[in-house]
Amino acid sequence: MRFSDCLGHDLAISIINGYIEKNRFSGGYIFSGPEGIGKKMVAKIIAQKLNCTADSDKPCGSCSSCLRIQKMQHPDVHIIENDESQIKIEDIRNIQREASFRPYEGVMKFFIIDNAHKINSEAANALLKILEEPPKDSVIILLTHKVQTIFPTVLSRCKQIRFAPLPRASLESILVKDYFLSRDTAHFLSYYCEGRLGFALKLKDSKIVQEKNGIFNSFMLSEKPLDGNYFSQSKDQLRVCLNILASWIRDVYLLKAGIKASEIIHTDRHSDLLALAHRFSFKQLDNIILQVSDSSMYLDNNINTKLLLHNLGAQLWMA
Ligand SMILES: [Zn+2]
Repeated sequence: MRFSDCLGHDLAISIINGYIEKNRFSGGYIFSGPEGIGKKMVAKIIAQKLNCTADSDKPCGSCSSCLRIQKMQHPDVHIIENDESQIKIEDIRNIQREASFRPYEGVMKFFIIDNAHKINSEAANALLKILEEPPKDSVIILLTHKVQTIFPTVLSRCKQIRFAPLPRASLESILVKDYFLSRDTAHFLSYYCEGRLGFALKLKDSKIVQEKNGIFNSFMLSEKPLDGNYFSQSKDQLRVCLNILASWIRDVYLLKAGIKASEIIHTDRHSDLLALAHRFSFKQLDNIILQVSDSSMYLDNNINTKLLLHNLGAQLWMA
């Protein structure tokens, strides 16, 4: 990967390149912006650029250093990823210890902390100490989609680089031109992923693209209430299912309100959606939207979701 592959992040990359060219890329950084937008990818490319062994045109992407950073197997590039739990003081102490050594083979050590908003207060204090006197040949990059919950003391010690989503039309044309997706799939993903290229690339080969129509057919076009197939899924799958369902209902609602066909998410099912827009009243749609959003909330609170979804399915069927 190279910076030229990081479509849509021109501003962030030009700021970073400005620091690198002036030899001032050191200390602490916060990359903020929505999930799945490519923050981690950019952080890894910087680590490659500063440790690449090619003579020019860095990062080359093909030297041993670049390849190992890509696979996160380089001794000078570390990533702290804690998807579920907090980032604790031991994690930061490991950074402190590692940062006290010179780079093993590269020029610069990198410590990338993903989901940095999960740093607990004890760990934040320890991190602050490193940020106050950062080792010259180490960089700490915090990645977060919740910058407002980062400890202000930590925030004040880091340079913040903001990453923004792509306009939907740009994402759609990138997915068609560079990733050869069909226009309908690219259109769906650009809306569903809200301009987040990384998220769209993750989903493009997943089942979601095929299953979105299945969810629509089962919930909204079925001739009988749901048979329970959707109720044996994991919490994450149920969340995806509810998000997809919300996107279908959004389309029905907006078509009823007179939106242009090109503005809907599921362009491939325009005629089915239009039929539903005639079938449901605004009041019924309001009620369904409320049920879907309540179901999402209950999912977070571990309430019996099977029952909820059953009720939701029955409501859609009876409407
Ligand atoms: Zn290289």
